Amino acid sequence: MMPVLIVLNAGSSSLKFQVYDVVDTAEPLLVWKGLYEGLGGGAHFVVKANDGRILEERTWDAGEQVGHEEALMHLVAWLSQFRDERRPVAIGHRVVHGGEAFSGPVLVNDAVIETLEALVPLAPLHQPHNLEPIRIVRRRLPGMPQVACFDTAFHQSQSDIATLFALPREMRERGVRRYGFHGLSYDYISSVLQDNDPRLAKGRVIVAHLGNGASLCALHKAASIATTMGFSALDGLPMGTRCGAVDAGVVFFMLREMKLSPEEAERVLYTKSGLLGVSGLSNDMRVLRSKAGSDPDARRAIDLFVYRIQREIGSLVAALGGLDGLVFTGGIGENDVATRAEVIAGLAWAGLSLDEVANRAGGPRVSAGSGPAAWVIPTNEELVIARQTRSVLGPSYPDPHRNQGD
Ligand code: ADP
Repeated sequence: MMPVLIVLNAGSSSLKFQVYDVVDTAEPLLVWKGLYEGLGGGAHFVVKANDGRILEERTWDAGEQVGHEEALMHLVAWLSQFRDERRPVAIGHRVVHGGEAFSGPVLVNDAVIETLEALVPLAPLHQPHNLEPIRIVRRRLPGMPQVACFDTAFHQSQSDIATLFALPREMRERGVRRYGFHGLSYDYISSVLQDNDPRLAKGRVIVAHLGNGASLCALHKAASIATTMGFSALDGLPMGTRCGAVDAGVVFFMLREMKLSPEEAERVLYTKSGLLGVSGLSNDMRVLRSKAGSDPDARRAIDLFVYRIQREIGSLVAALGGLDGLVFTGGIGENDVATRAEVIAGLAWAGLSLDEVANRAGGPRVSAGSGPAAWVIPTNEELVIARQTRSVLGPSYPDPHRNQGD
């Protein structure tokens, strides 16, 4: 019987999962991956083999109550058909915020849940959804070890100064500081630099995680020294629907002059801004690229996105004291040939030059010449969660089924 780990990534109406074989100290091996979406009304389930082949699909009627709990129990039931070959021994969760308390993954217990709940005000749109499946598993599958893996933890290597806002000291004491996010993605990229380009593993690298959420991270010797996201996942680059950095004075204007409630202002900044807000068209880079020739607003949204990436790269090069490499990852970074070309075109001052043929082919190396190297490396946050979960559990996996008579 093969022990397997379940990796969960829960959103407001979705639950993504991956299942990994874990053998001794070898890299966890992906077996199945899938998704529940439309939770709360008209849910859909799909599970695929590790080669992308669809194994099973199901859609529930809009009237049927399928929330996170039903989805999780459906997954457990689906997995139980393989119980003689593979048995879940632990669940690893993506949790956006680990606050100051957690600089690495942690085995969940009641005290940990309490600490993580106290962080909800720091990530009100993500943290509650991440914690829900943890609570469900504790209730429905007591004895199943759970590990929380954080998007913030990778940035705990940053210096005090890099994390500080110029605000009154008592605010820092209340946890108002730069945390940084996308840490599971940066952890993965930093772990594979050595295989791609050993020079980068020892050097100064900027990773551009460009997806629906987008941020940059400066790595020195594969550790985070600065990042564009700060206290919340709103800061830094413009994103699909998030604004990125705006002058805090804009928020007062929204509240005082536009008479928006805090909740309305939050909704504008998180869900109506970014590529969507500027283009008035879409948050999807594919749509914007297809319209950029005919729609000036789509073009402006892309131009702003690229311009802000270039400016923030300048800032991170200063923090690093130079640049040895740039890595593109995330849905846009991995797939959008034009965004990579446009970003690199503005970085000639840093010695970067584009290899157009390699870029069109998707890399992996997309730079020419002897200056800093540019790479395309697909990220794998779920693998990092599987690695971290296993490292927390140690080599002897507890069998959660042992005392349940099955
Ligand atoms: P998330 O942050 O939600 O994980 P992803 O990393 O999947 O998001 O990135 C989603 C973004 O990637 C969307 O803007 C989408 O348009 C973009 N994207 C995906 N495939 C392509 C492609 N082939 N060309 C351009 N953009 C793409």
